[in-house]
Amino acid sequence: MLSKIKKYITENTGILIRLDDIAENMNWDLMEKSESLFEKYQIKPILGVIPNNKDNDLLSYPKRENFWEQVRKWKDKGWEISMHGSTHVYDKKTKNDDYFGYGGDSEFCGHSLEIQTLKIKEGIKKFNDEKIEIRSFFAPNHTYDKNTLAALKNSGIKEIIDGYGLLPYTENGIKFIPQLFYKVLLLPFGIQSTAIHLNYWNEIDFDNFRNFLENNSDKIITYDHALEKINNDFSYELIKILVKKVLQTKRFLNFK
Ligand SMILES: [Zn+2]
Repeated sequence: MLSKIKKYITENTGILIRLDDIAENMNWDLMEKSESLFEKYQIKPILGVIPNNKDNDLLSYPKRENFWEQVRKWKDKGWEISMHGSTHVYDKKTKNDDYFGYGGDSEFCGHSLEIQTLKIKEGIKKFNDEKIEIRSFFAPNHTYDKNTLAALKNSGIKEIIDGYGLLPYTENGIKFIPQLFYKVLLLPFGIQSTAIHLNYWNEIDFDNFRNFLENNSDKIITYDHALEKINNDFSYELIKILVKKVLQTKRFLNFK
């Protein structure tokens, strides 16, 4: 019995490395250093690529001219490419009425279905033009509403790397891979994703990341592996609600 439980926990514990804000303009020094780490430990991360970056904060970072060629190289290595917003420009404010109740600014939440569909289609068009296949999405600042989900589904995207819970789940016809923490943290049980922002990292953050990978490389999973772990049992519905309550309180208190 005990060995069965141990096996179950091992099979359902893992972390997907999600890198946010991948664009022409970014912290390329840390990206290159991260890439060497991923090579060393044979890690296949998921990259949140901004297709039409117009975010002034992000545009202040160094620009790489052959960016899309680089994205194709990453994809060829088996890394997962995800669409992270379209322009990454926040033009709406949520009043905690967004899908996950995080609040804050948004590129999508609060816009009509028509406008959101247009934004999503513009993003997809860029990937198509660059011959890069994508199947998933995550919104800047984690902010969605029902229209975002509808716009995504209308555009053929049915996977989101965001959400609460200890295991991936399906809701409203979308597969969600939960993203719980901003720090790289491995829980004793559960499958979820990180949200790493290399642009805001210093050398100490990177050293911590390297140590984490060194000690936990066997727990790092691929995107396909995370999708295989979708669980919609009733007990997980309860866990999802509990995790949501705890995290909303934590985020409210600003313990990122
Ligand atoms: Zn972002």
